[in-house]
Amino acid sequence: MKEVYTLADLKSWEAKGKSPVHLGVFGDPVAQSLSPQMQNAALESEGLKESYGRFQISAEELEDSLDLVRHLNFVGINLTLPHKADALDLMDEVDTAARQCGAINTVLVEGENLVGFNTDGLGFLHAIRSEFSVDLRDLRVLLLGAGGGAGRAIALQCAIENCERLVLVNRTLEKAQEIAKELAPYFSGSRVLGPVARLQAIPWDEGLLRAQIANTDLVVNATPVGMKRSDPALLSASLLAPHLMVYDTIYTPARTPLLAAAADAGALGANGLSMLLHQGARSFEIWFGRKAPLDAMRAALRL
Ligand code: NAP
Repeated sequence: MKEVYTLADLKSWEAKGKSPVHLGVFGDPVAQSLSPQMQNAALESEGLKESYGRFQISAEELEDSLDLVRHLNFVGINLTLPHKADALDLMDEVDTAARQCGAINTVLVEGENLVGFNTDGLGFLHAIRSEFSVDLRDLRVLLLGAGGGAGRAIALQCAIENCERLVLVNRTLEKAQEIAKELAPYFSGSRVLGPVARLQAIPWDEGLLRAQIANTDLVVNATPVGMKRSDPALLSASLLAPHLMVYDTIYTPARTPLLAAAADAGALGANGLSMLLHQGARSFEIWFGRKAPLDAMRAALRL
């Protein structure tokens, strides 16, 4: 198996070896993806004679690459940056959650048809349960970066779970406001939480964020800020408090500036490796219609 495949490889594809590559992740960049090690461990553990590869595919190459996959006996594909939104129009069918999120991270190849799903929201739900031993439905959530693909999936999952409170924070406020409008029906039920609104969209303003912290249990980073060495902490330790749980969807680096600030403030923190595990487990279940071998996948991620 090659370290990284390209569109040129797909064009002259031949299924090779005892466990040919029939699954993979398309991204640009893709070298950093941990999905191959996790999914290959799952395939091996289940005795499935397939392999999962890494594909360096640019935005311009996505349509051709997906078209080729229809005819190559593939089982499925994961999509990562920058493909999640663009793939929506390239599917034959799109699952409801993926349509609502406006993003696809899992493609099932059914005959020659492509069916799009989004497993990020469910991955997040299970990650919060496993990291903090609490249910999302009982939490007041402050979501940073609500306007991106991951942010929308997490916001939708919070709404589906009917969490106690959801505050959507986004650099471009209009996007958060639009999502709040879409999610309002989920929060219109009889759950009452005193004087604070159950669903709010706010701009990225330190004063406004500080005012929200007292009414928050879980802070989530769904922005890419923290991935680069030079990135600052999204929130300073002085803004955080010991009662908080802080979940950073980033997993490289393992300790982001936000998680360092959370530790300084005495708050609990966890990185996005658990979300990667659980979204990957849901993808596996979509592809193979059987329970994913979580222990093998967890061990492959050294979680
Ligand atoms: P995306 O669609 O590009 O979304 C980026 C979001 O971050 C937008 O809301 C954007 O705000 C905001 N943002 C970007 N730069 C910012 C800055 N400098 N300051 C404040 N806000 C900023 O990206 P994505 O695909 O959702 O990915 C977001 C993060 O989620 C990445 O770190 C990714 O690794 C992580 N993720 C993790 C998993 C997992 O399994 N652990 C799965 C999916 C994604 P605007 O709307 O204003 O541009």
